[in-house]
Amino acid sequence: MYRKILKAIKKYDTIIIARHIGVDPDALCSQLALRDAIRLNFPEKKVLAIGTGSQKFAHIGKLDRLEKVENALLIVTDTPDKKRVDSVNFSQFSYIIKIDHHPFVESFADIEFINDKASSTCEIIMKLLMQMKFTINSSISELLYMGLVSDSNRFLFDSTTPELFYLVSCYLKKYPFELSKCYQKLYLRPINEVRLEGYIALNMKVTEHGLGYITITDDVIHEFEVDSASAGNMINNFNFIKEVLVWVTMTEDVKNNQIRVSIRSRGPVINQVAEKYHGGGHKFASGARVPTMEEAMKIIEELDQVVAKYQSEVRENGN
Ligand code: AMP
Repeated sequence: MYRKILKAIKKYDTIIIARHIGVDPDALCSQLALRDAIRLNFPEKKVLAIGTGSQKFAHIGKLDRLEKVENALLIVTDTPDKKRVDSVNFSQFSYIIKIDHHPFVESFADIEFINDKASSTCEIIMKLLMQMKFTINSSISELLYMGLVSDSNRFLFDSTTPELFYLVSCYLKKYPFELSKCYQKLYLRPINEVRLEGYIALNMKVTEHGLGYITITDDVIHEFEVDSASAGNMINNFNFIKEVLVWVTMTEDVKNNQIRVSIRSRGPVINQVAEKYHGGGHKFASGARVPTMEEAMKIIEELDQVVAKYQSEVRENGN
């Protein structure tokens, strides 16, 4: 597969790299790292990373202005379906490559390079750059590490394998950077966000089956002076609550007139419920956008049934 990707990269003088809407560190870092690596190895090519930026991640790296292009290659990272690709007019491109670690949703590229067992898209790109024998530098290495560490939630999930540690070790040895500074870039946050985290911990409702859920209304977002995106991302901080197997935040996003439903799990498979509500994602980390809180509460009811079923299966199997 890497030979086909390398051939396409060599063939096109203009390469645009895009990723999904609602940017997160794996999406952003995978596109920026790939852009910088191609620029380093093919300085004569025009390589742009595009998409809507976010103030929250502005310090990670700068995106490029979208330009009208001709006879160009489009590489989409970290996105399984066409409708979630940010700021791309597909008809402009001569050839398309997808590089992704989400479960397959639809085919929209000439090359579909998917590994849904990978911790992150950055992990796939780390391997790819090595296979293509690209020259890399420490800033590219740091970007890839940030995306990987973020999507694996600091190596918490089963996608963390001996091979992953080996890959990370190779990069850290060959292209070192300061880990403590890198973690600050990812995790330093204002006290208001920590206070909101406290609010969520205090107000999360927990069902008898072990579903935790909370609504974060626009009033709460204003009270704590945070933005809707940061509030929605809080979901990742509630991983190890003994009484909670699946947990959900329902965050009001007034600007886009929708509710962002974020779902995480330590056992029950949740993405099928998200898909029923036009969302999707991974088996244990999914999301959806719905028009009203009432609809979001329907997701809660369905998820509660999923958790209940899972718990009764666990009891039957005596685990
Ligand atoms: P979130 O909780 O919003 O960070 O989303 C977690 C994961 O769920 C994302 O990485 C996506 O893979 C997926 N996801 C979230 N929202 C949607 C959506 N509206 N459609 C499809 N997949 C989604």
